[in-house]
Amino acid sequence: MKKLLVTGGAGFIGSNFIIHMLKKYNDYKIVNLDALTYAGNLENLKAIEDNDRYTFVKGDIADRELVNKLFADYQFDYVINFAAESHVDRSIEDPEIFLRTNIMGTQVLLDAAKNTWTLGKDDTGYPIYREGVKYLQVSTDEVYGALGATGLFTEETPLAPNSPYSASKASADMIVRAYNETYKMPTNTTRCSNNYGPYQFPEKLIPLMIANTLAEKSLPVYGDGMQVRDWLHVKDHCIAIETVLHKGKLGEVYNIGGNNEKANIQIVKLIINRLEKTEDLITYVKDRLGHDRRYAIDNTKITTELSWEPEYTFEEGIEETIQWYLDNKSWWEKIISGEYMEYYDRMYGDR
Ligand code: NAD
Repeated sequence: MKKLLVTGGAGFIGSNFIIHMLKKYNDYKIVNLDALTYAGNLENLKAIEDNDRYTFVKGDIADRELVNKLFADYQFDYVINFAAESHVDRSIEDPEIFLRTNIMGTQVLLDAAKNTWTLGKDDTGYPIYREGVKYLQVSTDEVYGALGATGLFTEETPLAPNSPYSASKASADMIVRAYNETYKMPTNTTRCSNNYGPYQFPEKLIPLMIANTLAEKSLPVYGDGMQVRDWLHVKDHCIAIETVLHKGKLGEVYNIGGNNEKANIQIVKLIINRLEKTEDLITYVKDRLGHDRRYAIDNTKITTELSWEPEYTFEEGIEETIQWYLDNKSWWEKIISGEYMEYYDRMYGDR
């Protein structure tokens, strides 16, 4: 059995990833460490909660004592760090928790990995790690900053984060890089574009617009709505992470994108049309502070070196996603009736 620590596994991407791995492999034991913040939801994991190769631990990745104990108890072979404060708007409101979780939490995990994975030192003083171990940091294309109308982010693009969220993710990436360079720790970092698919918290663009359109509430669109993002189906992302975990060259960064560039307003209109409502639900609101205009990913490295390619077209993926939100109303209705509504009202009032 390979022992894998997944952090943030009760969130959107982490829960999809755990389900994917347990279904695909019989020789993985997964421990899910998640603090269950507003974004964590154990209902996402109902399909596998009784699986005896799955253990949930409620806790904070920045809690050094807890993390050290887990590493000592389980002697993990792999760690994938999904845990993060992940919403840009919230980071603009209150950056501090982003720095604590996204930066300090990453360092605590790396330290624990270094301590339990090191077998000794080689002649030159470098640590020797247990064979097969790996730390994988899940990062974002937002660390590269914004693009103009043309061009793509490659792994060589200099980091130029513009929001407290992306700055915290870029900082974590740098710490991972430093642990690889300094201690030769076996690491990979992945930087993906905007994910969409089942179990995404309804503060993010696609589920927010689906929920509001169905309720015939106004659809808040930032600025002119012409911000362009690349969209990656979460299932394609899970396969990409699995591929990097198994085949990624140590110390390397891999960009992951869906080859689906879309302006936000295009997506909003597509959802309205699919749900047979009218475009007068759209309300243009004041643009987000420091809003990046365009992100786009060059996938060449992961496609050529690791033979991964996205399988979903946006048209298939968005149709499946809208249908999932239609079929799973009780999942998101419960969420939007809680703490999220207070936040939503603060951000958008009763527009
Ligand atoms: P999410 O907000 O849905 O989930 C984050 C999870 O982390 C939640 O379950 C939350 O409870 C947990 N968490 C937060 N703070 C924690 C802490 N201190 N200790 C333990 N657990 C904690 O996020 P997501 O969309 O699933 O994103 C997962 C990762 O992917 C993040 O690192 C994010 O930066 C990155 N990412 C996401 C996207 C996207 O489009 N969703 C794009 C690029 C990168």
